[in-house]
Amino acid sequence: MQSKILVSACLMGFKVRYNGSEKAALQETLARWEQEKRLVVHCPELAAGLVTPRPPAEIIAGNGNDVMQDKARIVENTGQDVTAQYQLAAWLALAAAQKEKCCAALLTDGSPTCGSQLIYDGTFTGRQINGKGVAAALLEAHGIKVFSHQQIPQLIAWIEARDRDEDSV
Ligand code: SF4
Repeated sequence: MQSKILVSACLMGFKVRYNGSEKAALQETLARWEQEKRLVVHCPELAAGLVTPRPPAEIIAGNGNDVMQDKARIVENTGQDVTAQYQLAAWLALAAAQKEKCCAALLTDGSPTCGSQLIYDGTFTGRQINGKGVAAALLEAHGIKVFSHQQIPQLIAWIEARDRDEDSV
């Protein structure tokens, strides 16, 4: 069976970002994978019941792993604590990936949910730091290889190598 990939919905051009903007166009391989029905398009935050548009939220003094262990909080720029909703978002992303037997995820970087290389630093000043959002952290903890939208070539190379290995068995 061909490997499936969980993909942040906002990478697919759907208007689900908190500011309603669309992400970059799909590359050719992603379009092919989509035709082959290998992409599992999912927005963890929408699945968890967060609305669009919604206020920006950042992880305060920690990263996605810390939030999932209740060692850090996620707060909107209004001051509203939304930790529980974002923890639910992470679990729903994992459930979606496991249901479809995804081996990898391609997630929008910078998000407190989908960020895998970068997240905002919790000060709402636009500064980014190295770190993972809640969904990226939980997916990785369960053996799903996570790539950011800046790493599409690496994702493609990883999936193609995996496909070759499976073909040779
Ligand atoms: S970054 Fe993730 S949670 Fe945020 S809008 Fe995109 S898919 Fe949804």
